[in-house]
Amino acid sequence: MERILVIGANGQIGSELTEALADIHGAENVIAADIGPRSLAGAERYETLDVLDNARLRQCIDGHGITQVFHLAALLSVTGEQAPLRAWMLNMNGLLNILEIARERTAAGQPLRVFWPSSIAAFGPHTPAVDTPQLTVMDPTTIYGISKLAGERLCEYYFAKYGVDVRSVRYPGIISYKSPPGGGTTDYAIAIFHAACRGEIYHCYLGPESTLPMIYMPDAIRATIELMQAPAAQIRVRSSYNVAGVSFNPRQLADAIRRRKPDFRVDYRPDQRQSIADSWPRSLDDTYARADWGWTPAIGLQPMADDMLLHIGKTVRQCTQAA
Ligand code: NAD
Repeated sequence: MERILVIGANGQIGSELTEALADIHGAENVIAADIGPRSLAGAERYETLDVLDNARLRQCIDGHGITQVFHLAALLSVTGEQAPLRAWMLNMNGLLNILEIARERTAAGQPLRVFWPSSIAAFGPHTPAVDTPQLTVMDPTTIYGISKLAGERLCEYYFAKYGVDVRSVRYPGIISYKSPPGGGTTDYAIAIFHAACRGEIYHCYLGPESTLPMIYMPDAIRATIELMQAPAAQIRVRSSYNVAGVSFNPRQLADAIRRRKPDFRVDYRPDQRQSIADSWPRSLDDTYARADWGWTPAIGLQPMADDMLLHIGKTVRQCTQAA
């Protein structure tokens, strides 16, 4: 029986991952943790936890008999640029705290399986932008991307040197409707749906042709769970796997929305986030993930847009009625 700790459980991914893990392992076996007060509807068990507080982290892992940790606490690309030192401290030291506990547990014959996400932000301007390979030039320009690349190297090191069973995917930009995004460069692809459902013009901070790799939340959750369930012998990549979902640009996304809402309009006002987007890949080659643990994305652009419009439309109508 697995006992699971999700750190950063109040966030965009954590809130949905906690629910999905509770469905698989039973709510009593999934402990949601975050630095803030509980904001999750689904979690049966909740701990207020700062991942930088090593003593409390150990207490939480030992006290609950944890066998798997999903470590999601981080500052993202846009918020990271506003506080680079804080981003580096949180993103690196949080991961190191967990890898150290996993190292000790592995040596003691009580292994702790760890999931930690990297990002397309780990790539940079000299990375081949189309069908970006698994192994390639990586020269990230944001503190967030630098911390993700360093984190990938740490994960591979802890596996190679200490046998820690750590697994990772380089998430593309994640699109979802249940909880708000956490301050990334790809957040436009969520905000655009809120504007469309409110009948407003959307002022897009990226230009119309800025193609980026994206993934719809159900596919991202499935990738995470499938990777963590795969037999250890199949996991050849211990830095982080490329996983492709669907690549599109703001113009193509607006076209998909206009198929359902023909009056929807976007105007383009690129800001400083454009230069971050310009340094990232346009599409990913995820051959390794497909070969090693059977990854296949399921949700394309139009089905994703239709589902987002359905759910965000409902929320906007409820808010309008309540006002
Ligand atoms: P988010 O900002 O929505 O959630 C992060 C959570 O971590 C928040 O609830 C926050 O309160 C919590 N947290 C912050 N500091 C903490 C601390 N010291 N201790 C414990 N919890 C703390 O982020 P997200 O979008 O859910 O991203 C989760 C992970 O996935 C991050 O590592 C991120 O880099 C990665 N990722 C996300 C995306 C995306 O598009 N959302 C893309 C690529 C990678």
